[in-house]
Amino acid sequence: MRPTGPLHVGHLVGALENWVSLQGSYECYFAIVDWHALTTEYSDPSAIRGYVREVALDWLSAGIDAERSTVFVQSAVPEHAELHLLLSMIVPLPWLERVPTYKEQREQLQDKDLNTYGFLGYPLLQAADILAYRAEAVPVGEDQVPHVELCREVARRFNHHYGAVFPEPQALLTPTPRVPGLDGRKMSKSYGNAIFLSESHAAIEDKLLHRMVTDPARKRRHDPGNPDLCPVFDHHEVFSPPSTVEWAAGGCRTAGIGCRDCKQALLERYRERLDPIRERRGLLVSKPGAVDEILRRGAERARASAAETLREVRSAIGIA
Ligand code: AMP
Repeated sequence: MRPTGPLHVGHLVGALENWVSLQGSYECYFAIVDWHALTTEYSDPSAIRGYVREVALDWLSAGIDAERSTVFVQSAVPEHAELHLLLSMIVPLPWLERVPTYKEQREQLQDKDLNTYGFLGYPLLQAADILAYRAEAVPVGEDQVPHVELCREVARRFNHHYGAVFPEPQALLTPTPRVPGLDGRKMSKSYGNAIFLSESHAAIEDKLLHRMVTDPARKRRHDPGNPDLCPVFDHHEVFSPPSTVEWAAGGCRTAGIGCRDCKQALLERYRERLDPIRERRGLLVSKPGAVDEILRRGAERARASAAETLREVRSAIGIA
């Protein structure tokens, strides 16, 4: 994950909760990829360092277990950079130019000059992140599948030239809901519509009750509404048990409940889901140096594994 901001509840249900459960069946590596953040934030990198810490805190408080999994920061493992360089020798330019996110992001982020070598090479650096651990599977969303596919092609090409060093990693696709933000668009820090994991219950209450939109056609309490057009209902579907989802849908359609009742019920689900996360965060923050120590140990473990891969890579190519 790129350290470009604090994590929100979309990240929790769209990625983190899945990662937490994967820890039971896989040996997991979780990297905060600060060099990747630099590809778009190079002109003002001042916030990256702070976000690295925020993301680490968000992960650990959401249940990523640094005893079971390797949690680290990309820039603390220079082997990623060496592998990226070596892979850059064999990757044909058109492979990078045809990655769909390359064109899309350049069009979307027009305020930034992304006409750089680093930005074009973003998916190759990602391939190095994966191959440095000879990973078998990468848990990603649909939008990242072309990146994993590129990684497989690069692994295949390397193995073809120099002998079998890398397994071809599989994309581990888990269907996840797309969580809308307060304004109904996809929840995203850049839209200013997010509910962050690090927020207090009072702050979330204020956002839900005063800022979250509902079915725009339901203007008065006695107007029946359409839950299919309401982001509060989408959140019930993600956070509430089926009985509450049914209650909210039925109550909305018949005007049996008001939007405020519906939001209050959702707030309780938020409290249940986020209280344990807040508690773990409080514990971590109360121990000075705890997060730094976890990241230091993670980098040490990651380096040991990546260094082993790089020894094999250098030997396969036949350079020191
Ligand atoms: P991003 O920080 O936007 O690159 O998101 C990282 C990952 O978090 C994505 O690949 C998704 O799996 C997940 N994610 C981010 N935003 C949302 C959202 N609004 N709803 C569901 N999942 C999300």
